[in-house]
Amino acid sequence: MSLTSYIRTIPDYPQKGVQFRDITTLLHHPAGLKSAIDQLVEHYRDKKIDRIAVIESRGFLLGAPLAYLMGTGLVLIRKKGKLPAATIGEDYDMEYGTSTIEVHTDAISPGDQILLIDDLIATGGTAEAAIKLIRKCGGEVVECAFLVDLPELGGNERLQKIGCPAFALCAFE
Ligand code: IMP
Repeated sequence: MSLTSYIRTIPDYPQKGVQFRDITTLLHHPAGLKSAIDQLVEHYRDKKIDRIAVIESRGFLLGAPLAYLMGTGLVLIRKKGKLPAATIGEDYDMEYGTSTIEVHTDAISPGDQILLIDDLIATGGTAEAAIKLIRKCGGEVVECAFLVDLPELGGNERLQKIGCPAFALCAFE
């Protein structure tokens, strides 16, 4: 069964005209969650990965079980002001205004091979900011992985332009 069939679409959320892909229904379904995590483990089994970086908040839900099964550490990338120790940040543009993500300055060591995880890639703006942040810390992003790609929004091409391969388990064309 395709993973897309576990994902619910909510029309006009959070604003009119947007088809929101709601992954809570996949998380809710034991077979959906298991299949997603198993496929990620299979894809990255033989790659050298030191740490998995996860983007707040739905990236946490996929990255934590993956890190546990792969025996790697987790690096939390959070919205501004949420992390308690010294941080380094990266600003990025959103549809309305700008946003900032942060990581602890001691969370990534120079040369660390990082796998970046989020639930979904749309325009790629969030993932691009996370990649820049990891690189600022001296980490190398091996690949970015997503549960869902929305190809018509061009995120994959955007990440290719900054030299980062992207992988998604399913797509809504
Ligand atoms: P981007 O920066 O345009 O690629 O948007 C991706 C970010 O927005 C991710 O962190 C997603 O969690 C969130 N996002 C955007 N659209 C959706 C959607 O349809 N469903 C779930 N999350 C979304």
